[in-house]
Amino acid sequence: MERVESRRNENEESTVSGSEAAYSSRRALVRRSSRARVLRPCISYTLFICLLFFSPVLLPSNRAAGKPESVEPQKEPRRIVTIKIAGAEPSGLGIDWEREIKKVRGAASGTYQQDFGIEFKIIKWETWKIDKTAGTMQGLLNDLKKKIAPGEADVVIGVLGPSGPGDSPTGIADYFSAYILLRLGRPGAALPVVIHELGHIFGAVDLDEENTAMNPRNPALKFDPFSARVIGLNKNRSFHTQGFPSPPGSIREVISGYEARASLNRAEPEIPLFLAYLYIETKDYAAATKACLEVLKRNSETPEIQGLLGNLYLAQGRTDEAVAEYRKVIEWNPELPLTHFNLGVAFLQKGEEDKATLEFREAVRLSPNYVEAQAGLAQQLLKKGEVDAALDHVRKALEIFPDFPEGLCILGAALILKESKDRLEEAASVLQKAVALKPGLPEAHSILGVAYGFLGKDEEAEAELLKTLELKPNSLEAHLNLAVLFRKSGRDEKAAFHLGRVAEIDHDFAAKSGFLAADNAGPVKYTVRPEMFRQK
Ligand SMILES: [Zn+2]
Repeated sequence: MERVESRRNENEESTVSGSEAAYSSRRALVRRSSRARVLRPCISYTLFICLLFFSPVLLPSNRAAGKPESVEPQKEPRRIVTIKIAGAEPSGLGIDWEREIKKVRGAASGTYQQDFGIEFKIIKWETWKIDKTAGTMQGLLNDLKKKIAPGEADVVIGVLGPSGPGDSPTGIADYFSAYILLRLGRPGAALPVVIHELGHIFGAVDLDEENTAMNPRNPALKFDPFSARVIGLNKNRSFHTQGFPSPPGSIREVISGYEARASLNRAEPEIPLFLAYLYIETKDYAAATKACLEVLKRNSETPEIQGLLGNLYLAQGRTDEAVAEYRKVIEWNPELPLTHFNLGVAFLQKGEEDKATLEFREAVRLSPNYVEAQAGLAQQLLKKGEVDAALDHVRKALEIFPDFPEGLCILGAALILKESKDRLEEAASVLQKAVALKPGLPEAHSILGVAYGFLGKDEEAEAELLKTLELKPNSLEAHLNLAVLFRKSGRDEKAAFHLGRVAEIDHDFAAKSGFLAADNAGPVKYTVRPEMFRQK
């Protein structure tokens, strides 16, 4: 059945790759979107910031709304997975659907509890006002992700009424963001579909095999050994975090299970597709590319794979090819936030700032909960000097995912750019949080150093800027700001040393700034000059 696999970023969205297949009688409609994970090219705000936020990550993000959650230890015998139910409105939910859902939840939970020690608990019921123009299950799933945030729940399940009397139920699921859309059918018929879709949430894929819950046309109530193994390995998957959902310790084993299955050469296109995601996660781009080409060989219409290939090209610096792949995906479906986001990242790599901004804007429009897109747009706005607008977007990102270190860096930079004393205190405090969350992020130290510099805390500023250089010896921002700091405190030799490093790192910049002239002592003020933000 449909599974959408999306990957990080989900933000929402965005990143869905999914195949939606109609359950039962309808012919499977395979739609795939690209779930690219965001590749993150590194972007440097010159004086300050390099958003690692865009460092290469190939799969889509599932941090739609994220509460970071640590993975439970493997030995934990029972895992409780919490669910938010979103009942569609309007959508022909005339039946006593809540009762139906409660019944199905109980039965599905029983199966998962017995086989895997996973228990499902509904913690919230909400109403979801659907976009009636979203014609397909995929379109409705995107609408669900856009409008219903998971909040405290691990999994969101949107529920639609039957499309006609006596219809079979249908579902679609997104592994990365952990969203399921369920269309109810005849009373009592939904159980196999729910078990199947929950299987997708735990890393199982559609199989060309009878008598298994993962058969998309006629799902059984029990799993085959391969799917059971995959689900067991994914039992402690993460929800709404930045990472790949599968527990890091089990990825190799998941890969070997998938490789063994792939060697059977069945008509199971999701196998190489999922393998591609897993290879990307382990940074084996060559194997990932091969897996993508394998899928393309069997299936010509696979925008999802094209999106992934785009990401792989992007990771390898082949930006023109990446742009071409993303454009094909967008032509197929213009409403995929992740693809727009990745296209924006590709434009950034090409130095096409305005085009990048437009794509981030589109990603945010399609998926307001898409944390990376919100932060990416904020970063672009900062570069253009639109500090207030940047603040709005980055605060939105942090509202969804408060412990997002790169987002905190952007917020810190924006607050510094506001140039008011109380904003500086706030900047220092959010940057301290970024440093605590991700001590290896050079930009967090660099921007924090500047905040301290502006606050007159010279010792702390020096320590943070030196820490930046430890992590990133060629940080232009850190050298520039150290030059300012040392000059202010009369340590001219040290200031000259750092200015010399600036000239070595970027001669053109130094020449343009006049820093090469013998009588030029360099910048005199810690600066956040948005016009200098640039990509590196
Ligand atoms: Zn499926």
